Amino acid sequence: MKYVVIFGPPGSGKGTQSDKIIEKYGYAHISTGDVLRDEISANTELGQKANTFIKDGQLVPDDLIIKMLAVTLDDIKAKNGVIFDGFPRTTPQAEALQTMLKKRGGDVDTMLSLEVPKEELVTRLIERGKSSNRADDNLKVIEARILVYNEQTAPVMDFYKKEGTFHGIKGIGSIDDIFGRIVEVLG
Ligand code: AMP
Repeated sequence: MKYVVIFGPPGSGKGTQSDKIIEKYGYAHISTGDVLRDEISANTELGQKANTFIKDGQLVPDDLIIKMLAVTLDDIKAKNGVIFDGFPRTTPQAEALQTMLKKRGGDVDTMLSLEVPKEELVTRLIERGKSSNRADDNLKVIEARILVYNEQTAPVMDFYKKEGTFHGIKGIGSIDDIFGRIVEVLG
């Protein structure tokens, strides 16, 4: 079982590239953002709590996310691997993931970090906002999400650099070009 983290700022293409990875490698997909949006749609207690953070572009607290991730991971049927998309977003989340995977006899094998300049992120997210119906794809919240990424999420890169699993991926160009760079790493 391979465990891969796809990482990067909002709008860097994590979801798009995850779809291509799933198609080629047959991995299961865990997107904490998708799980949270499902909880919001179902109007659960977790969804209601999470929404108070998501609508302002802030991170949902680590304890809620880590509990939710453990449940999601337990539900995953045996596949070739798992791709974590939008998780971990803080160093405590990265540490919790490592503990959870160690219990399953694994660890993160590869961390793919999509690198995209800020102006391009804003352009992509504004464009996505025209059709995504996501309450957080508007300029004010986009700016907040990028700031939160730089302050709270970017340090996660150091965790994986120390682990020796970090791979920077140039995240601009065509979707297929970017995927080609990912395939070079995943083999
Ligand atoms: P995403 O779909 O990954 O862009 O996530 C949308 C929003 O959900 C984020 O802006 C956060 O508010 C929340 N969220 C998703 N994943 C996490 C996570 N791992 N930790 C904290 N908040 C998260």
